[in-house]
Amino acid sequence: MSDQHQQHGATSFETLAIHAGQEADAATGAVVPPIYQVSTYKQDGVGGLRGGYEYSRSANPTRTALEENLAALEGGRRGLAFASGLAAEDCLLRTVLSPGDHVVIPNDAYGGTFRLFAKVAERWGVTWSVADSADPAAVRAALTPRTKLVWVETPSNPLLGITDIEAVAGVAHAAGARLLVDNTFASPYLQQPLALGADVVVHSTTKYMGGHSDVVGGALVVNDDTLGEELAFHQNAMGAIAGPFDAWLVLRGIKTLAVRMDRHSANAERVAQMLSAHPKVTSVLYPGLPEHPGHETAAKQMRGFGGMVSFRVAGGEQAAVDVCDRARLFTLGESLGGVESLIEHPGRMTHASAAGSALEVPSDLVRLSVGIEAADDLLADLTQALG
Ligand SMILES: *Cc1c(COP(=O)(O)O)cnc(C)c1O
Repeated sequence: MSDQHQQHGATSFETLAIHAGQEADAATGAVVPPIYQVSTYKQDGVGGLRGGYEYSRSANPTRTALEENLAALEGGRRGLAFASGLAAEDCLLRTVLSPGDHVVIPNDAYGGTFRLFAKVAERWGVTWSVADSADPAAVRAALTPRTKLVWVETPSNPLLGITDIEAVAGVAHAAGARLLVDNTFASPYLQQPLALGADVVVHSTTKYMGGHSDVVGGALVVNDDTLGEELAFHQNAMGAIAGPFDAWLVLRGIKTLAVRMDRHSANAERVAQMLSAHPKVTSVLYPGLPEHPGHETAAKQMRGFGGMVSFRVAGGEQAAVDVCDRARLFTLGESLGGVESLIEHPGRMTHASAAGSALEVPSDLVRLSVGIEAADDLLADLTQALG
């Protein structure tokens, strides 16, 4: 956590988002951290580093500002910023796993996470099995003596499943495994997994943290200093760091995270209610709806239900694809978490790589990333797209 935060003593999320890790620039007084677009640093005599900076793969002041900010927002002790969410995931798994180790992954993990385990880590001798993480007993049943890591995404992508973080942390820890939570969909404004017992939080900062569909980035946050040091060692040794401009863009996005998430959640709630009443929609997956099976858990561990809504369309795959094609204000595209609304068909787009596996998604599913435009405009576009 930054010195400035300690000086101010402020602990509220909105204030930390704007100030943690970000003192006025010592040289100029610039009120936001400059983009230190630099690779190397003058030493005052051999080994005489100014502020610990020697080479920007190891550390860069703009990235340091983001890393301190990320730690503060997740209530952790160490934050690390990467070139993408998957780079962060790769660093985590190569730091905590060795050949022969086993991982439990959720049955509706992000497609790229599944691919990382199934097509990359497996070749290095890491084994994995799939469990429904919404059911702590199913996670317990999937554990083996070699399980080192339990992986959870909540809310999950694209089915918006909810996992009780506290309950699964208990299951993982009882078996001597660590719990990782992918907090991309919620953001730390809505949910803080470390406080609920998670050991590691991962983010695709590409999504809500950046918030403007203009940067790709990732992050890890932990509250164990030893693990934090091991991750920092691997971050430097493997090198998939966030560059200075990308770190700056994510920091800039984070300043408005709280107000954006409030609006995303409010708009998504309106969208979910409208879809629930629509005759061409067979089911709506949104944890804010009282009939969602994870609603109570979500209400307990989140301060809002977020901006992601999925729904199934009567008429099957072609009907779902047609809805995506007819949308106009909702832009047809992958990714999520930006201020603009997006629509996609997970089966053919984001989750195509999970086809034929236990993670295959229903073919009549449509996923929305509900933006912060006027809710009435969003409802009108969906109404016309449903025909
Ligand atoms: C996008 C995403 C990732 C991967 O992040 P990248 O920045 O695309 O590498 C991981 N988890 C979730 C839930 C995501 O949505």
